[in-house]
Amino acid sequence: MSEADFQGRNVLVTGGSRGIGRACCERLARAGANVAVNYHGNREAAEETARRVIAAGAEAVTVQCNVADEDAVQTMVTQINEQLGPIDMLVNNAGVFEYVTPETTSPDHWRRTIDVNLTGTYLVTWAVKDQMIERNFGRIVNMSSISALRSRPYGIAYAASKAAVIAFTKSASVALVEHNIRMNAVAPGLIETEIIDDVDQATIDRIVGETPMKRIGQADEIADVVHFLLSEASRFMIGQCLVASGGRVMLP
Ligand code: NAP
Repeated sequence: MSEADFQGRNVLVTGGSRGIGRACCERLARAGANVAVNYHGNREAAEETARRVIAAGAEAVTVQCNVADEDAVQTMVTQINEQLGPIDMLVNNAGVFEYVTPETTSPDHWRRTIDVNLTGTYLVTWAVKDQMIERNFGRIVNMSSISALRSRPYGIAYAASKAAVIAFTKSASVALVEHNIRMNAVAPGLIETEIIDDVDQATIDRIVGETPMKRIGQADEIADVVHFLLSEASRFMIGQCLVASGGRVMLP
């Protein structure tokens, strides 16, 4: 895998302030990419990510934006273009997860989850695709989850949103590939980030027990998969969803 694939490239990582997104920003900066760190509410965390990107020798900008808000997404892309230049690579990572029982799930919860995880992925992709088409180059990775691939009675909206991200990846990748835009997805298993703060220890222990590798994953292990999918090492792949779950889910 050549780091030359990333030299001088500009990458937008949505939800780059924390967790998996931050690990992606750091990984791609170490590979030589300049990074636009998107965040929603946590500006301090985004600035810390930017400091790490700069420490890795790359350029960084931080951009506040709710990826579910179409106008805000357009403004974000304009800001990045002005401050960094055209966007070559996109990691649609921003996501929300709420642990809800079937009894406490609600239309509001459903809409919040679908709006950020699914509509956000569509809106940001569509806001950057024309500049990728114009330059006949684009690399996109969408963050799904193994929740899309198994039964999740305590996260029905989340599972549905992440399954739809896989369907979006399959269809959009075919629509865009003639412009040398390659799109793939990643489906992580349980990863140690703040998103699982609400998951109780007994559940985590059960998940570890179900995982052949007998541990949960780390954000940098997902960032390495994202790095692979953005690089030319994956040059014959589009529309795929790579599972990184310590063996908890295996696709045929
Ligand atoms: P995290 O630590 O909670 O980070 C979530 C990130 O998304 C933050 O940067 C947050 O920004 C951003 N975000 C949330 N809502 C947003 C919005 N409306 N607009 C823009 N940004 C928004 O979670 P994580 O574990 O790193 O998750 C990253 C992705 O991986 C998500 O798509 C998640 O579904 C997926 N995933 C995670 C796991 C896991 O076990 N951790 C497993 C499978 C898939 P602020 O900091 O500003 O709030």
